Parts: sequence; structure tokens; C-alpha cells
Amino acid sequence: MSQTEQIIERGKRVLIGNYARLPVVMARGEGAFAWDADGNKYLDLFAGFGGCVLGHCHPALVAAATDQAHKLWHVGNTFYTEPQIDVAERLNKFAFPGQAFFCHSGMEANEAAVKLTRLRGGQSSPKKWKMLSFNKSFHGRSLAMVAATGNPAVKAGFDPQVPGFTQVEPGDFDALAAAVDDETAGIIMEPIQGEGGINLYPPDFAARVRKLCDKRGLTLIFDEVWTGCGRTGHWFGHQYFADSSGKSVLPDIMTLGKAVGGGLPVGIMFARPEISALLTPGKHGCTLGANAICMAVCRTIFDVIEREKLVEHAAKLGEHGLSRLRNESRIKVRVVEARGRGLFIGIELKEEAPRIVEKGLEHGIIINLTSKKIVRLAPPINITPQQWDQGLDAVINTIATI
Ligand code: PMP
Repeated sequence: MSQTEQIIERGKRVLIGNYARLPVVMARGEGAFAWDADGNKYLDLFAGFGGCVLGHCHPALVAAATDQAHKLWHVGNTFYTEPQIDVAERLNKFAFPGQAFFCHSGMEANEAAVKLTRLRGGQSSPKKWKMLSFNKSFHGRSLAMVAATGNPAVKAGFDPQVPGFTQVEPGDFDALAAAVDDETAGIIMEPIQGEGGINLYPPDFAARVRKLCDKRGLTLIFDEVWTGCGRTGHWFGHQYFADSSGKSVLPDIMTLGKAVGGGLPVGIMFARPEISALLTPGKHGCTLGANAICMAVCRTIFDVIEREKLVEHAAKLGEHGLSRLRNESRIKVRVVEARGRGLFIGIELKEEAPRIVEKGLEHGIIINLTSKKIVRLAPPINITPQQWDQGLDAVINTIATI
């Protein structure tokens, strides 16, 4: 047995089998590349489910983590620490005026957002407590987020579902409006559905949802766990929403995960101050949330993205990628469509291709498959144009030779 096979055997014995792991041991990463334990090199077009938004071991992030590790790791939220304030200030600068709560994951950020929504709804009469979300959505794996998620496979085996969560068809405004009753507290939606297959909404849909929320006193949560931090060619995915007059569409609460940690565990709930004020001492918390090392890295992610103009870079590379994928004659027979925004791209295949990720590895790329037929690309947003073209060549070869 090779050394790699031995490691895999050890892993199979002691790791729970809730992930369909590939038979590869990843050992090292640098920029957009990762190497396995046998020295094979891969261009990473999925960035650890979007977490490594600046690629692997970015020198500025390594320096931020190392510097902070020599200063202070964690004291708990009974004290002020500066790195988390710096992060919250950056969110005010790049998103909208608000206040931040820090935790470790997207799921926890969404839990906090729903709790806050209920606190707000509890002030009305009758009390508002129910949430609406969409089919094909994904919001996390806690019991409440399983109930919020619009995917029967995620819910299966975990009944009874947490009450108060209903899903409607994404993009169907009339169905959404009809589902609101006097007890509805809020709506949670991803600006682009990620796990559901890179699904966008009809133009104007988000603006109409915003108006509905205003009219019925509902809290609007944008789950930006996938779409935050420049990935979509905007700082945040909701920034591509506009009403018919071009006015932007803002949420009451935005949740973040994945990219904000650059590969470390960071989740953020960011809320308009009138609403966040309801989260008074004792109402919510997270022991290690906002630990100084994660926050120093998070702050640096925003700074690198701004300094290196990576939002614009992602938009430009995304357009180039979509145009290549849409015009490539070699894959036309196999593809329904290529869609997405920025460096968040889904290629919907005509037929299921369960082995396509392994095939990608054989072509030297890391890609992902979701909803059985949708190949997802979410490379580090600082991937170079040359690397991106090299990756697209390999994606096209992989699909052409399924
Ligand atoms: N929201 C969305 C939109 C997600 O895609 C995910 C994870 N894929 C989550 C929430 C949950 O994030 P985490 O795994 O960090 O809990």
C-alpha cells in the first residue's frame, strides 16, 4: 500500500463518513494551486467551497495571522478588541450602515439573524415569528437552518422539522406574497442560490421582495455566505439588485461566512442598527466569536481586495469565463447553459455526470458538482487571467470528454 493509501485507510477508520471524500490527500497550497501528498499539482477552481477567496497561504493573510498570534489570541467579548471593530467598519464602508456580530460559520450567522428577526417580530401584535425562504435554497445544517433550507435531501431523517419555516418557489413573487400572513416575521434569501445550482432571480424580483417586506413589516435577510466578499463582481451579491429606477436594494440583515475567513472559521451577522439594538446582553453570544486572529485575517482580506481591485477583477474574469464557456463548440452538446456572476459560475449539464470531479482532477483542476448536474466554479478571486484561461481550458476538456 502506498503512503497515500495508508493515510486514506486511517482516515476511513476514524473520520465520520458524512462527506463523500475523494481518494486524494491534499498536503499543501500556494495561491491558486494545491498539491496532494504524492506531489500532483492542481489548479483550484473551487477554493475550499469559496473559503479561500484569496487562494492558499496568501502572504498578507499569513502575516496578519502570525502578527496577531504573537499579540493576543482571545479574551472573550467582555472586552473591546480592535481587529473586530476594524472588520465592522469595513462592512460599513463596503456594504451599508450597520453593526456586526461575529461567530464561526454561515449557519451560525443565519441562526443569529433568525433569532434577531424573531425578537423584532415579537414586538408586533400578533407576534411575528415565522420565516419564508425558497426552494433550492441552502442556509446551513443546524436544525433551524435545515428547516429553512429548500432541499428535501437536507431535511430527510431530521423530522420533526423546527416549526415556522416555509419555502416557496424562487422568483415567484405572487407565491411569496400569498405565503405572508400576520405571523410572518421575515424572509431569508441568497442573492444567488449557491448549493441549489447558481440560480439567479428575475430582474426586479429582489426589489419587489424588499417592497413587500416594507409593506408587511418583515425583516429581509440576505444570506451572503456564498456571495460575499467580491466573489460575484460586487463587494456583496445584493449590490447587483436594483429596482426599475436603478435604486439599490438593501437587506435589514446580511449574513456572511466562507470567504470572510479566507479559510479560517468566521461567520458574521451584520444588521441595520435599529434592528441590531434589540440584541441586548444575554440574548445571544459565541465564546470564540471575533477571536483576534480570525479578525486580523478578516480585516486583511477586505484590505487586499480593495487595494488590488479584486472586485473589478472578479467581474472582468467572470465575464470572460462565461463568454468562453457559452461559445465553446466542443461542449455545446453537453451543456444546457453557463450562468453566474463574477467568479461564481455554474455550468448546467444535460446529463448527470457523477464522476466529473474525479475527471477534473485527472485534468489537473479542482471543481465541484452540485444538484447532480451543475458544475460549479468558484476560484480564488485573485486568480490571474493566465491561470483562469488555463483552468477554463481544463474545464472545457473535462466536460468535452465526460
Ligand atoms: N448559507 C449558504 C448560502 C451556504 O452556501 C452555506 C454553506 N454552503 C451556509 C449558509 C452554511 O455555511 P457553513 O457551512 O459555514 O455553516
